Amino acid sequence: MAAHQEEKLAEERKHQNMQNGTKASQGQWGRAWEVDWFSLASILFLLMFAPLIVYYFIMSCAQYQCSLTDPLLDLLTGKKHLSDIWNRTPMLTYRAAAIYSLWVTFQVVLYVCIPDFCHKFLPGYVGGVQEGAVTPAGVVNKYEINGLQAWIITHLLWFANAYCFHFFSPTIIFDNWIPLLWCANILGYAVSTFAMIKGYFFPTNAKDCKFTGNFFYDYMMGIEFNPRIGKWFDFKLFFNGRPGIVAWTLINLSFAAKQQELYGEVTNSMILVNVLQGIYVLDFFWNEAWYLKTIDICHDHFGWYLGWGDCVWLPYLYTLQGLYLVYHPVQLRTAHAVGVLTLGLLGYYIFRTTNHQKDLFRRTDGNCRIWGKRAEYIECSYTSVGGTKYYSKLMTSGFWGWARHFNYTGDLMGSLAYCLACGFEHTLPYFYIVYMTILLTHRCIRDEHRCSSKYGKDWKRYTAAVPYRLLPRIF
Ligand code: NDP
Repeated sequence: MAAHQEEKLAEERKHQNMQNGTKASQGQWGRAWEVDWFSLASILFLLMFAPLIVYYFIMSCAQYQCSLTDPLLDLLTGKKHLSDIWNRTPMLTYRAAAIYSLWVTFQVVLYVCIPDFCHKFLPGYVGGVQEGAVTPAGVVNKYEINGLQAWIITHLLWFANAYCFHFFSPTIIFDNWIPLLWCANILGYAVSTFAMIKGYFFPTNAKDCKFTGNFFYDYMMGIEFNPRIGKWFDFKLFFNGRPGIVAWTLINLSFAAKQQELYGEVTNSMILVNVLQGIYVLDFFWNEAWYLKTIDICHDHFGWYLGWGDCVWLPYLYTLQGLYLVYHPVQLRTAHAVGVLTLGLLGYYIFRTTNHQKDLFRRTDGNCRIWGKRAEYIECSYTSVGGTKYYSKLMTSGFWGWARHFNYTGDLMGSLAYCLACGFEHTLPYFYIVYMTILLTHRCIRDEHRCSSKYGKDWKRYTAAVPYRLLPRIF
């Protein structure tokens, strides 16, 4: 009898947890309703300088052998003018425009027209039609999860071309790298502008739109929560995953092919970067359904930050290590290579295990075993804007008992490994770890701010039980 009551109670809580999605935390959901001066200043800075930063990095490699200081020194000492650098920069070409248009169209076709078949034969893989989290307006979107299939088809065609048909050279991406940058920018700006206009005039779900009244903030952080065209073309899922992340591994392969062409061999550092980043990309697609529950999809609106970021920032700056290794082919000593591989794999293990532990915990409502023991947690409650009380749980077992965001720590270890694979001659390959540290620390603080206003004193109990954010005893 008691067990029956307990079961009923758990069922009720589960139901309430689900409802939480609808209205509980509308106040803390997604991006802000009002803009403070600091956010506005950061946004203006990024809108003005992020495209320049990408250009500067890519230009430094093409014209200054990846030195970040030489272009500045040349400009400051008057040895070169901006126009000299600009005049040596390849412009947009018809060839690059054709390649890019074909690439994006192909990814759209793979995304929209070919339903997932991988889940039919890959044990453990979750694909096909899946539901996302409940939006603040109470909508549950359906997604066609077919990213793994898109990745496999694209790469099979790439290898077929490289080794059998020879329709184009595998160095094609490297050879058109800067002209393709202009194409990616055009798409990035076009899609962000379109998303803004769509948010004003024909939103997919008007109740899930946010307007701050500040043009720049709305442009950057997005108005619509889940803009769509038709039933299935979801902007966030498409632009987050493809064309950027599918391209990531192809870009690396193209850089490896260029090394082979220039030096007659592919260095062990290039292989390490290809393998470690390849694991990360494959993990992303294998867990695409899980990704529907992450902050990007559950809380962020679709604006320039995601639209331009996915088209330009991600493919150009996440692949800097491979680009660097084309200009500086580094052959690592065995001990160094083994160290990098170990750090990369350990980082990946922590990243994946931590994410998996939370996923399992939330799916089973805490009724699971973590590291062989019953999961431990803190019961939390929060109140909706309508005054209804809801319940949730915050796990304190496994890696979630070590630190409040140990998944980010694993991600950072992997990121550091990619950089270390490039040796110590230049700072450029280390941009990635600096960027990821800023991104994930900021994300951690942003998320904790949201959780603190959502759970109140229960969040304080949780932070007392798990006092560190990223590194036990340090931060
Ligand atoms: P998390 O997966 O860590 O999700 C945070 C949410 O989990 C919180 O808002 C809270 O939501 C819930 N939560 C927090 N603590 C607990 C707990 N102890 N027990 C149960 N639930 C808890 O964050 P992200 O979505 O940001 O990250 C997902 C992954 O993606 C990470 O591994 C990250 O490293 C990676 N990532 C990679 C990026 C890249 O560019 N390479 C960029 C961004 C992320 P609730 O309100 O439901 O309680």
